[in-house]
Amino acid sequence: MEIENGTQIKYNGRTSYVNGFTDEEIGDDHMYTGIDTPLRQNAFEMSDDDKKIRIAELFAEIMDVMGLDLSDDSLRGTPNRVAKMYIDEIFSGLNPKNKPKVALFDNKYKYQQMLVEKNITFYSNCEHHFVPIVGKAHLAYISSGKVIGLSKLNRIVQYFAKRPQVQERLTNQIALELKQALNTEDVAVIIDAKHLCVSSRGIKDESSATVTSYYGGVFNTPAKIAELQNYLND
Ligand SMILES: [Zn+2]
Repeated sequence: MEIENGTQIKYNGRTSYVNGFTDEEIGDDHMYTGIDTPLRQNAFEMSDDDKKIRIAELFAEIMDVMGLDLSDDSLRGTPNRVAKMYIDEIFSGLNPKNKPKVALFDNKYKYQQMLVEKNITFYSNCEHHFVPIVGKAHLAYISSGKVIGLSKLNRIVQYFAKRPQVQERLTNQIALELKQALNTEDVAVIIDAKHLCVSSRGIKDESSATVTSYYGGVFNTPAKIAELQNYLND
C-alpha cells in the first residue's frame, strides 16, 4: 500500500526494529518520540469531507477483509459512521482549526494562590493500538496577572485528548498550552488514566492505571506538590 507522501507501509511482522525493539514491543511499551504529535507537513491539505470519504472507503475494506458482510443492514452504515466519528469527534484535536480560543481576564480578585481544576474526565485513544484511554486530568496554575475561564481548562484537555495519543505527550502538550496561554511557567498537570490496550488485550491487567505529571515553575517544589496533592486527595 502506498500513502500520500510516498512512504511505503508494509506489514512485516517482527522484522522492523527501533533501538533493538520490534514494532509490537514498542506499541506495548508505549514509547513515545516527542512532544509534537507526529503529523505530515501536508496533513490538512485534504478537506475534512474528502478525508471522511477516503476513511469510509478504507474502513469498509478493513471490514471486508475480516469477512464482514457490508450488505447487512446493521453494518452498512458503519464505514461512514467511523469516518465521521474520526474526523469530527475522537480525532478532531489533530486539526489546529479546532483548537479552543483562550480568552484571558485580569486577575481582579487578586487571587494569588494556586487554582486547581480537578477531575476533568477525558476520552482519548492510544496511538499504538487505536483503543481508548479513559482518564481524569487535574490542572493547576498560579496567575501571573491574568486568569482563564474555567471551562477553557476543560476544553484544552479535550482538544489534546482528541488525537491518537500517548499519555506522556498528552500531559506535556496540555502543560505547554497552559504555559503559553497564561504566560507563566507556574502550571501543573496530573493525568490518571486507564489504557484499554493494557486492560482489554495484551497483558490484560484490569486494575492498573497510569499516572503522569508535569510540575512547572514554582510547582516543582516539594511544598507545592504536597499542597496540590492535598487538594486532589479530597
Ligand atoms: Zn496502546
